[in-house]
Amino acid sequence: MATEKKNIILTADRPTGRLHLGHYVGSLMRRVELQNSGRFDQINIMIADDQALTDNADNPGKIRDNIIQVMLDYLSVGIDPEKTTVCVQSALPALHALTFYFLNLVTTARLSRNPTVKAEIQMRGFADEGLPAGFFTYPVSQTADITAFDATVVPVGEDQLPMLEQAREIVEKFNRIYGETLVLPEAMIPENATQRRLPGVDGRAKMSKSLGNCIYLSDSPKTVKQQVNGKMFTDPQHLRIEDPGHIEGNVVFTYLDAFCRPEHFAAYLPEYACLDEMKAHYRRGGLGDGTCKKFLIRVLEEYLAPLREARARWEKDIDTVYDILLAGTKVARERTNATLARVQKAMRIDYFADRAVVREWESLLRQTKN
Ligand code: ATP
Ligand code: MG
Repeated sequence: MATEKKNIILTADRPTGRLHLGHYVGSLMRRVELQNSGRFDQINIMIADDQALTDNADNPGKIRDNIIQVMLDYLSVGIDPEKTTVCVQSALPALHALTFYFLNLVTTARLSRNPTVKAEIQMRGFADEGLPAGFFTYPVSQTADITAFDATVVPVGEDQLPMLEQAREIVEKFNRIYGETLVLPEAMIPENATQRRLPGVDGRAKMSKSLGNCIYLSDSPKTVKQQVNGKMFTDPQHLRIEDPGHIEGNVVFTYLDAFCRPEHFAAYLPEYACLDEMKAHYRRGGLGDGTCKKFLIRVLEEYLAPLREARARWEKDIDTVYDILLAGTKVARERTNATLARVQKAMRIDYFADRAVVREWESLLRQTKN
């Protein structure tokens, strides 16, 4: 019963803030590449406002405000509405219905084992204050998002791997019980280890809106400079330039691992041909932290300056941005409704799709009379 296999992408972001460099290297950059590769039949990007409400129920204004911020970030990194469907989750009622059915296919014990959710519960203080059931079950709603679009590929950062595993389990269980209906999705994570999970400017494990340790794609050059110079630590034992330095745990080098390419050396630091040479000099001693930070700022600006310019252009035309989102959401509504219809048919709860059930009921009643 499953539709013919196509190459379909679905990814999403929570509108809890502007997008940051972690999103960029973990997922956005790849999405634009895939979008322009021509290898996909369909690319869908969703602004997950319903999911954002699971831990922001008391602050709906924040979610509403950030829809436009995330949308502007998408357009400025090169998401092209001609090639990619961009939509808003709350306007897709099929996702709610699918979530409700899928919740029956997981146990609370299984949900409790999800390491990303565990860490997020801790971080948000839910362990003490009480855990909203909606937040606890958001991996199930993410399964609904992915399957509703028949996604085959989901480009995400490493923190999302447990969600994909959960989605695959639900798909397999659904198909076992109700027959082949849902498409089994696969995660696509960056090959570069630092890009899979970019740490915060403070060196904490993950750059995250909730931790306030971000460089945002729309930050001004001054803010970027302040974040790098003021917040990023290097090697606390590297006191004098001549001292040998450490690369491990040195946030500046972690960022260079994620962002710098050989052509950046040719342009801004021609003393070295590549990052390995620069690292070797730092380890030997004789390379100052100031020089490293200055280079990193230039590298980051190579990425950020064009994004800022594109954003400024879109900011002047919010009516058009609104129309893009509206049009994408309409397309997404059709796609997700079609999946819901297929699911309801497989689950034998498609009473009102046509009048077939009337004949079934009549025959049942005849049999019970005999
Ligand atoms: P929140 O704190 O509200 O959860 P977030 O910063 O974690 O926000 P999400 O919207 O949850 O961002 O994540 C969107 C996408 O970006 C996901 O695919 C996620 O894996 C990826 N991502 C987020 N942060 C990072 C990071 N620091 N490094 C790599 N990928 C990331
Ligand atoms: Mg997150």
